[in-house]
Amino acid sequence: MNECEADLGVLCIYLGIEEHPNIEYTKHAEGNHLTNPRFFAYTEEVDGKIQNQINVCRAIDNLPPDVRIGVLLHELGHIHAGLDEVDADNWVLSVCPESDYQYEERLLIESPDGKDPVEIKSIQRVSNSFMQAIGHMECD
Ligand SMILES: [Zn+2]
Repeated sequence: MNECEADLGVLCIYLGIEEHPNIEYTKHAEGNHLTNPRFFAYTEEVDGKIQNQINVCRAIDNLPPDVRIGVLLHELGHIHAGLDEVDADNWVLSVCPESDYQYEERLLIESPDGKDPVEIKSIQRVSNSFMQAIGHMECD
């Protein structure tokens, strides 16, 4: 199991979500991440129904854990509240205010093309105390 699946499992147990969404690594996510390094994950609507699946690129596994958890919370927000960005964020804030879910102004990440690190702007993040609360032991 990779970081992303492990983190999603921990989050779903913490939030009492019984039907854990699938994690799917997709070419679409890889392509989007290449052109927009801030892009790590998305959910999809098929026939008017939001799929219980989070599509990701490999780079999500290299994010700092508190950022990866923030991104996954946001995607859980889409699954439960719809594709609207504000609705997704509001869902997170209402079901998990203790996460201190917020947008980090900027973050340096590994470059999608393997060259110099790139700075991305406005990415989801949770607090260290929340990471401890969900029992995340990784601290690098
Ligand atoms: Zn979104």
